[in-house]
Amino acid sequence: MILSLARRAFGSRADRRLARYARTATTIIALSPRYRDLRADALLMEAQLLRDRARTGASLNELTIPAFALVREAARRTLSEEHVPAQLIGGLALHDGLLVEMKTGEGKTLAATLAAFLNGLNGQGVHIATPNDHLAGRDARWMQPVYAALGMSIGAITHDMDDDARRVAYAAEVTYGTASEFGFDYLRDNMKFTTAETVQRGLSFALVDEADAVMIDEARVPLSLFGPLGDRSTLYQSIERVVAKLGPYAYDHYGRKRHVSLTTAGAEIVENALRVAGLLKSGAGLFDIESISLLHHIVQALRAQVLLKRDRDYVVSDGAVVLVDGMTGRLMPGRRYDDGLHQALEAKERQPIGEESRILASITFQTFLRSYDKLAGMTGTALQDAPEYRDVYGLDAITVPTHRPIIRVDDTRYHTSHTEKIEAIMRSIEDANANQQPVLIGAPTVAQSEAFARELTSRGWRQHDFDRDDAPPHDTTGAVAGRVFNLLNARYHAREADIIAMAGLPGAVTIATGMAGRGTDIKLGGGNPALGQQVAASGGLLVIGTEHHDQARLDDQLRGRAGRQGDPGRSIFHAAPDDDLLESALKAPPAQDAERCFNPEELRTQINAAQSLHASTTLEQRFSLSRFDQVIDLQRRVVYDRRLAIRDEPDPLGRIAGLREETIDDLLNKFALTKGPRDDAGLDASVRAILTLAIPVSELPDRVALRAEISTIARQWVQRKIEAVGHRVIGDIVRRIMLALLDQLWAEQSERLEHLKRIIGDRRLPPHKVLTEFRIEAFSSFELMLRDYRHEVTAHVMRLGLGRS
Ligand code: ADP
Ligand code: MG
Repeated sequence: MILSLARRAFGSRADRRLARYARTATTIIALSPRYRDLRADALLMEAQLLRDRARTGASLNELTIPAFALVREAARRTLSEEHVPAQLIGGLALHDGLLVEMKTGEGKTLAATLAAFLNGLNGQGVHIATPNDHLAGRDARWMQPVYAALGMSIGAITHDMDDDARRVAYAAEVTYGTASEFGFDYLRDNMKFTTAETVQRGLSFALVDEADAVMIDEARVPLSLFGPLGDRSTLYQSIERVVAKLGPYAYDHYGRKRHVSLTTAGAEIVENALRVAGLLKSGAGLFDIESISLLHHIVQALRAQVLLKRDRDYVVSDGAVVLVDGMTGRLMPGRRYDDGLHQALEAKERQPIGEESRILASITFQTFLRSYDKLAGMTGTALQDAPEYRDVYGLDAITVPTHRPIIRVDDTRYHTSHTEKIEAIMRSIEDANANQQPVLIGAPTVAQSEAFARELTSRGWRQHDFDRDDAPPHDTTGAVAGRVFNLLNARYHAREADIIAMAGLPGAVTIATGMAGRGTDIKLGGGNPALGQQVAASGGLLVIGTEHHDQARLDDQLRGRAGRQGDPGRSIFHAAPDDDLLESALKAPPAQDAERCFNPEELRTQINAAQSLHASTTLEQRFSLSRFDQVIDLQRRVVYDRRLAIRDEPDPLGRIAGLREETIDDLLNKFALTKGPRDDAGLDASVRAILTLAIPVSELPDRVALRAEISTIARQWVQRKIEAVGHRVIGDIVRRIMLALLDQLWAEQSERLEHLKRIIGDRRLPPHKVLTEFRIEAFSSFELMLRDYRHEVTAHVMRLGLGRS
């Protein structure tokens, strides 16, 4: 009830919006005659006028109509494609920061130029995110003439570029690239030592193409930069020795033996052993916030010891621990458990301990994309995920009606078994092929697409991976001849685009996974009008889904490959009770006597249930990732802001005085409390260790005098160094020290936060407590990090130039 009310309210609001956009689109189209006859230089001049207005304070909204009309005219001249009303509506919605649904083939690439040009006018940089590098390059080259006609600079980022090339591309008014390159550059820029080394100019407007792929599919895993972590074998070996001695009373396992934790007795034994091994300081406990990483390694060692069994979960061969695939029993050489678990296993099996890398910096797509001042997205399928776009990214979704009505026919066939299903699919491929109707066969995974290719081969079909350079066998008209098929999976983006572009040729049979060739148009007849007509007459592209995806959205995406821009077309999904989707999602295996009382309706219900189950679990995963990252992001911002301030600080020496004073306060608060007894020996040791000073602390009974004395001597010490080495030189050294320490401590903190996430996950807390607990502990560990930062900067500065001054 509430849902349907909400939907209606949502619907009407979106409808009002659409109506408004449609009116604006009419106005824009009416402006066309004004620009049509302008000479090229006059068009450039018009664009420059808009740029001048944008840079002298006019709001972009005032410029929308003339800007869109100019882009439309530029596209007409350069590409012979004029934005249709649906594209103008899409462009308006993008400019308003919406998540825009426009079906596959509607021309989103061209629609994006409208919002990109308009937002590029103010010179703050527009980032257009594409699903892969290949598409970034393609779209930039493809749309380049449109921007060029308006004097707008564009650039494209690809993975293999160096920083100089990146800087040039980011300096452009509009920059194409993948969201992950944008994100990695953001992380890397925040580790640079000078402004001149950075490549980005800030995060102003991001327009995300194929938004579902980035914002939902990829957003499951954060973007992480890794760096080498040196050799920690001794740590693993010492921990292994501690854990190997534990008896069964020392730990508990639960959750079908998938988790293990220490009992109180076990924890006590471990703490003592760690103290003896010198891994835990005498005053510290294993469950203190400072010991998170140690505890994490203990838990990993316990997992290795208790949960993982040799010759079941892994084998030891040739000095290596090789994992065993739990489903197939196959060995998986080269695959490693992460987060130190593999090293723990190697320690258990007395094998050489592998190198490790550590997270230097990490951010989720959710947080990164939200860091832009303005965000918009476009996708072929938005509505299923509308709540997620709104809650996680703050984006409202809107559906732009297609330019021409969709006449594609969608169908699903239910079969009693896999064998029967394959037979039916084969029959429809043969039938279509007899009429030279092109067929696109979609499989959910690479493995399934390969299995299907084997099936075709066994029936006398021949795999021939053709593209433009290596044409398929064809007849005189250009139609594909013979029983050949093409297999593509998401491995080589550039080649895929070539292949998929030919999937609309008469007689073509192409097997693809969902991601493969995404973003590339399948034109009927491969772009040849005569062949296109022939294909249209044979019914257009036939899309066959060999199995439902775990998400309905991906099913829709595949169906949408056919029937683009009002083309004829057909899509058929095939389902059977032994589909992977059902086996993995539903607890009860499908009934044995499926043959006898087969009920398609029941199968349909089961598939829907499996898809919604999958949708809700992955949604929950992403929400929880995003919630944790919101906590982490508070710290990330503090670190990045501080880093930026240090990097651009004209007087870095001014900062270290403050850090030194705070350090002295920390020491006094620890060893010389206002109330209670003083620990002169501890204070003396710390003053020596951090400040490198020998100060007769016990001769200064008054706390205020003591503080003043330490402070004065420390200040004079630094002052002498500055005079000896020179203000400028030492300033630069100090800046580098501060930045390097901040980076190192932040990397350690990022790792600790990862460990904390896991440890809290292991605590068996009620769900609502998990985040609270994480927030509290993350905060205390951050305070410790900041304290370490003060102390280490001070200690480094006090030791500077020793021997020279
Ligand atoms: P989408 O990204 O929405 O799937 P594309 O941007 O790949 O679609 O465009 C699909 C095809 O439509 C391209 O071949 C493009 O040249 C063509 N196209 C787009 N807009 C227009 C237009 N206004 N007029 C004519 N053809 C267009
Ligand atoms: Mg596209």
